Amino acid sequence: MSHIGRFAPSPTGPLHSGSLVAALASYLDARAHDGRWLLRIEDIDPPREVPGATRSIIETLRAFGFEPDGDIVLQSTRLAAYQAAFERLQAQGLVYPCTCTRREIADSLQPPDAARLRHQERVYPGTCRHGSRTDRSARAWRIRVDEQVIDWHDRARNGPIRVELATRVGDFVLRRADGLWAYQLAVVVDDDWQGVTQIVRGEDLFESTARQIHLQQCLGLARPHYLHLPLVVDARGEKLSKQTGAPALDGRQADRAIEALDQALVHLGLRATQATTVSGFWRAAVEQWRRSRWMRDA
Ligand code: GLU
Ligand code: ZN
Repeated sequence: MSHIGRFAPSPTGPLHSGSLVAALASYLDARAHDGRWLLRIEDIDPPREVPGATRSIIETLRAFGFEPDGDIVLQSTRLAAYQAAFERLQAQGLVYPCTCTRREIADSLQPPDAARLRHQERVYPGTCRHGSRTDRSARAWRIRVDEQVIDWHDRARNGPIRVELATRVGDFVLRRADGLWAYQLAVVVDDDWQGVTQIVRGEDLFESTARQIHLQQCLGLARPHYLHLPLVVDARGEKLSKQTGAPALDGRQADRAIEALDQALVHLGLRATQATTVSGFWRAAVEQWRRSRWMRDA
């Protein structure tokens, strides 16, 4: 089977040391398997988008020596495909309109580590499952989930990961009233369309994976392999992110780029290469990845 990996950043800010780890690991994994590596910009949430971020991410990756195979895909050009998938789910009777306000849902249970998770939603109590209020218009469309356990083998762990959909995730949003598509739906449609076989990304997307496997099952799509990486945290133990003000990376000076790449490599449990050129870094890093524990089960 051919190996196709990808990096799929949202343009909510420039590349930082947290997102670099996911970019680096997915790239090394693809190269170590003589596979392909795709770059997809997940620009489907204009209100959260930072002007110029798409260009800056692409330029920084290029300066760091990442070479995408094939064209860079922008999700903003793929809206018709998300609509088609949505309609297939609707035709199966799995989708319903929800009129609840954010406030109403806020009273319900929330997973303890929600603050560390990206794309996390509160577990929805199912209020509109059996018919929504007629005096309000829909705020979102949700997919129904059953008392079902999603399990997958994660390349980073021994033994299967099990997530109980109903209690940990609940009926989740596919589309908002303003017409915006949920990350969960878009990512599943595009990973399938691009033939992605390996998903390498941060642990903060763990519960998203359960949602995504559920969608793959409903849509009859193949399941890729997963590797969830340890998160980069700051001095206070908080996940580094654009929101917590992680500094942007700058690839304009080769020695700074290599230093950042080496740091990301060390975060993955590998040794700094101390290479003097970017191409030297990549040769040494791919070699290390090949002999590392991350290679297993791919
Ligand atoms: N675009 C998503 C994000 O940056 C991640 C996509 C993924 O790797 O699945 O949060
Ligand atoms: Zn509702």
